[in-house]
Amino acid sequence: MNAESTTNLKEESENCLFCKIVKGQIPADIVSQGDNWLAFRDINPQAPSHILVIPKNHVANVTECNEAAELGSLFQAASGVARDENLDQGFRLVVNTGEHGGQTVFHLHIHILGGRSLTWPPG
Ligand code: AMP
Ligand code: ZN
Repeated sequence: MNAESTTNLKEESENCLFCKIVKGQIPADIVSQGDNWLAFRDINPQAPSHILVIPKNHVANVTECNEAAELGSLFQAASGVARDENLDQGFRLVVNTGEHGGQTVFHLHIHILGGRSLTWPPG
């Protein structure tokens, strides 16, 4: 990574809502965490269980993440959080990406949605 992209990433991170949650600058209803990930309840839940799982380092979205291991461990973390939330009847993992994907917070996150029967296709 060159010096310019490092500076941009630092700026993005300083203005990022989810980075502020990681740093404890904004309160969140934290469910659990690991060394590299944090899980907290969505402020506007779309299902009885609606949890977001994010990497602790700033990554804007899935296309910006070049680390297969990082993506793998994030999904593994989400799966563990769903298990601990007792979503044994099923759940959905969603990664909204970019404008058409409906992404509104530009820090990579996996939505865990569960606790009710979910319809398909999404809107
Ligand atoms: P997305 O639309 O996929 O980018 O999802 C962003 C999610 O973040 C939405 O479901 C919001 O309800 C949620 N959200 C926004 N601000 C907060 C916050 N301060 N704490 C918890 N969840 C939030
Ligand atoms: Zn961030």
